Amino acid sequence: MTDPATLPSSDLVDLLAAICDIESVSGDEAALADAVEALLGDQPHLEVHRDGDAVVARTTLGRDRRVVLAGHLDTVPLTDPPNLPTRLAGEGDDRELWGRGTVDMKAGVAVMLALAVELGRPGAAPVADLTYVFYDHEEVEESKSGLKRLARNRPDLLAGDFAVLGEPTSADIEGGCQGTIRVDVTTRGVAAHSARSWRGENAIHGAAPILTLLSGYEAVQVEVDGLLYREGLNAVGIRGGIAGNVVPDACTVTVNYRFAPSRTLAEAEQHLRELFDGYEVVVTDASPAARPGLDDPLAAEFVAAVLDRTGGAPKPKYGWTDVARFAELGIPAVNFGPGDALLAHADDERVRVAELGVCRDALRAWLVGA
Ligand SMILES: [Zn+2]
Repeated sequence: MTDPATLPSSDLVDLLAAICDIESVSGDEAALADAVEALLGDQPHLEVHRDGDAVVARTTLGRDRRVVLAGHLDTVPLTDPPNLPTRLAGEGDDRELWGRGTVDMKAGVAVMLALAVELGRPGAAPVADLTYVFYDHEEVEESKSGLKRLARNRPDLLAGDFAVLGEPTSADIEGGCQGTIRVDVTTRGVAAHSARSWRGENAIHGAAPILTLLSGYEAVQVEVDGLLYREGLNAVGIRGGIAGNVVPDACTVTVNYRFAPSRTLAEAEQHLRELFDGYEVVVTDASPAARPGLDDPLAAEFVAAVLDRTGGAPKPKYGWTDVARFAELGIPAVNFGPGDALLAHADDERVRVAELGVCRDALRAWLVGA
């Protein structure tokens, strides 16, 4: 084993460049996890744990509240030619760091690492105990998720009253997230030679009412904890037919329902079963939604501190993030981090470095009141 890289923690941009330049495509996070573990292990105010390529560091100040700051270490694959090492471009406030991982989500990780080093030292005592969670395997199938593994192996390490995920939000607060459920809705018919089609029953024709229902469906908008979530119900696939001269005996429409955090997963499934009553309905994929949890006192203090600096209002999160995994553990969570989410995974991935300071300062103001 080689010695872990030394991370420059005193300057946010240097730190971000250093952690981006240690490639960590999903499955290959060990070198970065080693460097993160070494940096945090050097801080006398932190207790550090390692689980696979996840690193958890905790303060033990005896506060009655605990805040979790979390981020994934892995990235999607590099471009060809590779978009690493990083490069800095532009001037002053417009400076941008280009390269894989700068947005998703090493900018957020850099902010959290800098805070981990700073907060808990003399003169920077946080109002809550802090847990930093840096984990592997976020950008791949969820069965590999490092956060899921931690929740199984060491749920005690993830315990907390409120969590902030540093995923890119352009320094806005995005609360909760929508749930998603995918179902296969199948119609049955009777196969026949298409030359004698009256002897059969066409299952594709039988799917017409399903498509009519979907095209006429009016998705609701639901307010949850003060944020407005917009649902969606869509056919995302259709298949049927085995040959150009056969009346098909089965047709399957794949439907994806994105639902607001006002519904549980079971209620979302029930809604689909009622809509498609009379058809075969099989759930193929499902993840629960997460409430934004902004009514929690700790969350309210967080929102106030951030809005003081950025002026924006909290927004709902569309799409699914690990916020929902914290919600499953009973921990209200939000996304808040530097970087434009539209540039995540993009070939021209890059972050305005000024956003790192904005996020760090807002979190610091909340956590130490300075
Ligand atoms: Zn991410």
